[in-house]
Parts: sequence; structure tokens; C-alpha cells
Amino acid sequence: MLNTKYIVVGAGVFGSVVAERIASVLNEPVTVIEKRGHAGGNCYSEIDRETGIECHRYGSHIFHTSSDAVWEYITQFGAFTGYRHKVLAVSGGKIYFLPINLKTLCDVHQRFITPEEAQRLLSGEKTDPATATNLEEKAIALIGRELYEKFIKGYTAKQWEKDPRDLPPDIISRLPVRTSFNTDYFSDPYQGVPKDGYFKLFERILSDPRISLLLNTDFKSIRHEISPDSTVIYTGMIDEFFDYRFGMLEWRSLRFEWETHRCRDYQGTTVVNYTDAEVPFTRIHEFKHYHPERREPFDSDKTVICKEYSKTWSHGMEAYYPVNTGRNQALLKQYQELARRNPNVIFGGRLGCYRYWDMDKAVLAALDCFESRIKENYHG
Ligand code: FAD
Ligand code: UDP
Repeated sequence: MLNTKYIVVGAGVFGSVVAERIASVLNEPVTVIEKRGHAGGNCYSEIDRETGIECHRYGSHIFHTSSDAVWEYITQFGAFTGYRHKVLAVSGGKIYFLPINLKTLCDVHQRFITPEEAQRLLSGEKTDPATATNLEEKAIALIGRELYEKFIKGYTAKQWEKDPRDLPPDIISRLPVRTSFNTDYFSDPYQGVPKDGYFKLFERILSDPRISLLLNTDFKSIRHEISPDSTVIYTGMIDEFFDYRFGMLEWRSLRFEWETHRCRDYQGTTVVNYTDAEVPFTRIHEFKHYHPERREPFDSDKTVICKEYSKTWSHGMEAYYPVNTGRNQALLKQYQELARRNPNVIFGGRLGCYRYWDMDKAVLAALDCFESRIKENYHG
């Protein structure tokens, strides 16, 4: 019988942060159950044996936040480098900076454009992005049809396997549009990657001796052993928890194709997006560029890259992106209603809440969950 007072399912960001808070603030033992062979969830990285390069096994992860509280919390577990993410995009055989900024516009028009002229060019279509009912309308309202067709249409259709007119407008809100030469991908003041790697970061978050981590353990295989008096913090898929009784929520999955090349530098940067519909993958990651300060693997004559392909999710595959349609939101509401009738289980994380969260949002949600739902109801 598993009878610790607190059982956390999933050792990703959300589960690890909640477990750390329970152990260190409440001084209570906590069992963390993780079905994979490692902690860290999708942020997990490992050192590639052949090249010594740290590879993010579930796609590039850059920590970025505007929250002082999140930054203060996460940096307790190790320093971050000053890495600031830049993304380049190949479109029609030419290369541009994303998100769209003054440099992108100058490159598209092959001349110098002032910020004022950029403003005029971008608002060419004169429609209000706030009234857009789908992704295409919103993108055109924000950047005009030419840039939409160059950078958004093909990539979005590949990523979501849907016509952008059938997607909700908010997906595109993640990308800023700038009329300055700031070519950073993210606008947050705090950015970086863990100096000692994501694997070390999670090792430290989970290092409290009151935390027991059970790897390679699926919740399904031990759920009958959990004491009814335990509080379960569940960060797996909410529909799976309820045996899909109302049907399955839709996800997008990914396929990563790994290659080691005998060259010092494959593409000169961490991430290059391929925005043309004809190129089958969405982006190429080259991991050594996250750590130019690690001289040995950086200067070596080998490099590891990974091509990312978007895939339709089916049962048994890794679920990466929730598909935010009316059908899925209605289904989610049904599961959330059921969850309210299970007060001993707290659903959290991107799988448990069916949310498209960056790491900082997952940290913040976990800190909030601990304060408002766990500590608040704690009676010693
Ligand atoms: P997860 O990391 O998914 O953790 C959930 C854990 O629960 C997993 O380890 C899973 O194995 C485990 N689990 C599930 N079901 C069970 C079960 N039944 N039994 C036991 N264990 C179970 N965010 C950023 O801030 N910056 C980025 O650059 C960035 N890049 C991204 C790139 C990609 C390709 C993707 C898909 C996401 C990216 N994100 C990024 C988002 C980031 O991955 C998430 O914010 C973060 O992983 C959320 O953590 P989580 O704990 O909610 O979920
Ligand atoms: N997007 C695009 N072209 C790009 C990059 C992004 O059209 O080159 C769109 C696409 O719809 C994507 C969304 O913007 O799903 C959000 O992009 P982001 O890079 O934030 O996605 P993530 O890194 O989470 O996959």
C-alpha cells in the first residue's frame, strides 16, 4: 500500500515543483511517480555519449519569464546562462529573423525601412486583430497577407495539420511583432538555459530526502495501491485518468529525427524554422549552440542536430500540444466537472489542465496550486 500523505504523478515541471514545496515547506514525505525512466518531463536533457553535447530530448527548451517570483524560485536550484534565443526562418530559399521585426522587414523588402514605415507596412490590411475569428484573419490583421504567406501559412499548416482558417486566433498571439531591430525570439527580461543542464536542475529540485522518486512506474499500474487518505497531484492526461469515458481529447504529437554530423557547425545557430509547406519538417535544432561556453564539445568537429516533424496524436504516442477547438474545450469541461467530484485528486500541469504552457507558466501554476490548494488545506 502506498500511504504517503502526498503522491505526485509526473516528474515534469509541475509535479517536481509541487513535490519540492510539499517536502521543504510542509516538511512532509512525498512520493513522485514517473512513467518515464527520468525526471524533467519534456524539459529533460542528457549528454550525448558520442559528442558530449547536451541534447534536449523533447525539442529545444529555453527558460524565459517576466515573473520575478518564478525566476527567484527556479534559480535557487542552479544558475542559468545568459543565452538569449534567436530563431531564423528559411522561406523560399532565403533566410530571415523571426519573430517579425525591422530586420525581417528590411530583408523582405531588400532596403532600409524605418520603424514608422514598418508600422504602416504592417497595418496594411486595416483590420482589427481583436475581432479575428481564426488564425489566418488574426495573422493578416497583424502583419499583412505577404508576410503571413511567407512565414505563417505553411508552417502553421504543417504544425497543426489544419487550414489556419480552422484554427483559433490565439495560437499566433505567442509571437510578438516588433518594429525595432530587436531580433530576440522572446521578450522576457529573464532568459537562459541551466548552466549545468536541465537534468541537473531537476535532480536538485527533487533532491530533498523527503521526496521518493519512483521512475518507470505508470500511475495505472499502482493506482489500486494508493491509500484513499492520500492526496494525489496528477499531472498526466485528465481524460486518461477517467478512462476516456467521454472520449479522447485531441493532441498534436512530434517526431524527432536525430543526426550526428562530422562537422564543427551544421547551421550556425540553435534553431532554424522551415516555413515552406513543401519542406516536411518544421524546424532543425542544433544543440551545441545552446552552450558555446562549453568549449570542448562546442569546438569539436562533431555536432548533433534534430529535425522536428509534427504528427497527429493517437493513443500511446507522446502528447505535446493541446488542440484548442470548441469540441476539445467542451470535452475538457466535462472532465473538469468530474474532477470536482474527486476532491482527493488535484489535476495540474499541461496534460492535467490541457494547456499550452511554457515552463515558467507551469512553475507559476505549481506554486499557486501549492499555496492555494495544498498548504491552505494542510492540518499538520
Ligand atoms: P510534462 O513536462 O509533460 O510532465 C508531465 C510528466 O508526467 C511527464 O514526465 C510524464 O511522463 C508524466 N506522466 C504522464 N502520465 C503519467 C502516468 N500515467 N504515470 C506516471 N507518470 C506520468 N517551454 C518553455 O518555457 N520554453 C521552451 O523553449 C519550450 N519549448 C518547448 C518545445 C516543445 C517541442 C514542447 C512540446 C514544449 C515546449 N515548452 C517550452 C513547454 C514545456 O515543455 C512545458 O511547459 C513543460 O514541460 C510543462 O511541464 P509539465 O510538468 O506540465 O508537463
Ligand atoms: N509559427 C509560424 N511560423 C513560424 C513559427 C511559428 O507560423 O516560423 C506559428 C505556428 O502556428 C506556431 C505558433 O506560431 O504553432 C507558435 O509558435 P512557437 O514558436 O511559439 O511554437 P512552439 O515553440 O511552442 O512550438
